Amino acid sequence: MEFISITKPIEKIEEVQDVIILGGGPAGLTAGIYTGRNLWRTLIIEKGILGGNAALTEKIDNYPGFPEGITGEELVKRMETQAKKFGSKILESDVLSLKIDGNWKIVETSQGTFRAPTLIIATGTRPRKLEVPGEEDFIGKGVSYCAVCDGAFFIGKKVAVIGGGDSAVEEAIYLTKFAEEVTIIHRRDTLRAEKITQQRAFSNPKIKFLWSHVVKAIEGEKKVERLVLEDLKTGETKIFPVDGVFIYVGLIPNTELFKDILNLDPNGFIITDEKMHTSMPGIYAAGDVRGKILRQIVTAVADGAIAGMEASKFLEELNYKEV
Ligand code: NAP
Repeated sequence: MEFISITKPIEKIEEVQDVIILGGGPAGLTAGIYTGRNLWRTLIIEKGILGGNAALTEKIDNYPGFPEGITGEELVKRMETQAKKFGSKILESDVLSLKIDGNWKIVETSQGTFRAPTLIIATGTRPRKLEVPGEEDFIGKGVSYCAVCDGAFFIGKKVAVIGGGDSAVEEAIYLTKFAEEVTIIHRRDTLRAEKITQQRAFSNPKIKFLWSHVVKAIEGEKKVERLVLEDLKTGETKIFPVDGVFIYVGLIPNTELFKDILNLDPNGFIITDEKMHTSMPGIYAAGDVRGKILRQIVTAVADGAIAGMEASKFLEELNYKEV
């Protein structure tokens, strides 16, 4: 019997590129639009979901030009189409290492090694964990870091959201589509989310708040059944029954591969100047992965545009003519 392979052949991507972009979120895709329009061979390498954290946002309300809002998925799909339209290639792969050899930046991936004189790092962030007992054990069994991915498993259920930033409050609002009751558990008694988001949460009858409490443990038999909380005002320990817990306690930059090559700030974010230059010539950083004051899609795309233009300028100044 003959078997017919239905696997699509992987498009052959040349080893030598002009620009390699690590990360296919809004910053990386925008950088690809700009380098592509300058006719530089551009390879965008994304290891997870194209669009990064933005793709996992149900509705984006604060990106200019979309007064009705737009889903993260739709917005990044459009960015991807635009990057490809101007010639950027996109490779889905893990990045294993980065080496520097003179002007070459050499990126080893699980699908081959690629080199270019310029590198734009737009690897974004990942959720910070609470690091309490039970958290790891119950991932996928009631512990989640992504309401858009897992919210629908909690129809009619009772969930908690941990944190008081934009992510926690926005995702708590989103979860009210499914859950019967959503409790935001925050370690202080004021939120740090945008005021309009706070107002929406305060006026949502399904959202309750538990102020000045922290999670000490997540417990259950086969899945999450309760949280062990500490009331920071009284020191009292409390049991809080829940079916699920969504954790939004901040972000960790994906910079482990660069820590011996680039200057990072004390929290691990890449230090750049306003031209997105890092401490190494020809390497730029854009989006949430760099040290900055405002992490938004609109600032990520602005960073990406600047990084793309600066990389293009670097190649021209290098009088680089590799074909
Ligand atoms: P964040 O702004 O860093 O907020 C993290 C929250 O978790 C804070 O409320 C913090 O409490 C709390 N927290 C931190 N460690 C904790 C711990 N160990 N136990 C309990 N609580 C803990 O993170 P984020 O909400 O993920 O947002 C990250 C960035 O993305 C921000 O710049 C945000 O503005 C941006 N963002 C923007 C949007 C939007 O514009 N629509 C959406 C999502 C995210 P404290 O308040 O006490 O520090």
